Amino acid sequence: MTPSVADRVREALARVHDPEIHRPVTELGMVASVDVSPAGAVRVGLLLTVSGCPLRETLRGDVVREVAAVPGVTGVEVDFGVMSEEQRRTLQQRLMGERGARVIPFAAPGSTTQVYAVASGKGGVGKSSVTVNLAAATARTGRTVGVLDADVYGHSVPRMLGVRGLPTQVEQMIMPPTAYGLRVMSVGMFTAGNSPVVWRGPMLHRALEQFLADVYWGDLDVLFLDLPPGTGDIALSVAHLIPSAQLVVVTTPQQAAAEVAERAGAVAAQTQQRIAGVVENMAWLGCPHCGERAEVFGAGGGASVAERLSRLLGAHVPLLGRIPLDAELRKSGDAGEPLVLASPDAPAARELRDVAARLAARGRGLAGRRLKLTPR
Ligand code: ADP
Repeated sequence: MTPSVADRVREALARVHDPEIHRPVTELGMVASVDVSPAGAVRVGLLLTVSGCPLRETLRGDVVREVAAVPGVTGVEVDFGVMSEEQRRTLQQRLMGERGARVIPFAAPGSTTQVYAVASGKGGVGKSSVTVNLAAATARTGRTVGVLDADVYGHSVPRMLGVRGLPTQVEQMIMPPTAYGLRVMSVGMFTAGNSPVVWRGPMLHRALEQFLADVYWGDLDVLFLDLPPGTGDIALSVAHLIPSAQLVVVTTPQQAAAEVAERAGAVAAQTQQRIAGVVENMAWLGCPHCGERAEVFGAGGGASVAERLSRLLGAHVPLLGRIPLDAELRKSGDAGEPLVLASPDAPAARELRDVAARLAARGRGLAGRRLKLTPR
């Protein structure tokens, strides 16, 4: 029996993904009705998770595009409704599965998500720039990536990624906005204007826990956390909430900066956290005429942090890369498009892509872990 036009329309709707949940609308209970007139005019009733959903027009466009391509369809109209509380609860259960509230999927024993917490000793060394570019470079290789901006003092990640949308809420779940395919959450999305967040200790811990547990991240291959600078409470919270998270330490070449970065990294020794490696940022300035490298902030900071952390942890901590000073990196941050996407061949972008590749190659396996040798 050949499928009816209505059947084909349903098949086409299965190719439309909810822009926030990243799953087919047909799986999410969002398709309320499909009516096909004898002349082939189709009316699709779609239920939104929340009224005034900002992505409504995106959904309409996607539905019209897919359904209009079905043979026999002469026109497509989309009627929007809103899910009832009951329907939203069902959806939440479907997405969160059996796990109740306050369970962090990345901390679950079978989790395959690699979590990197990007830390620095002090502000202004380029920690956020490195985070967004590593995330974008990783996503560029086809992996599903999330970025959680936990830098309560800076929260510059949304600006650097050009994210203007706000998270939406479905029951207890928070849906992160996306940019360049990255799922992005930031403490800055919950504060007025540009004000710093004055949460400390337990409040910060709860906020981080909520970002990790109540945000619907979906199946991530990699999650990058942008930590506040320093050796504060949040580093301890990360170690406690996601013991498998690995630290990436960002420093400048300057000795003074290297020493504070080392202190930030040393927290990992106390919490038994692994350190994936060290990134030296602002490593040199290439002369635009002759290419000669000027070491504006001195030299050797990254290597010395890596060396001293290796000694402290009793495990090899590699220097993952040295990123040059590059005006393009600042400009792309200000423009809201990561350099690795805007100009993938710019000198700084190439180094950042190499760092992302090195992280991916190291995987979750042995990175920074003390090796236990067993005789065979
Ligand atoms: P942090 O997160 O450590 O506070 P940011 O990533 O916000 O640092 O960087 C601070 C400033 O320095 C930003 O304006 C950023 O664009 C700029 N910056 C960072 N790294 C570089 C670099 N390698 N070359 C040029 N500018 C950079």
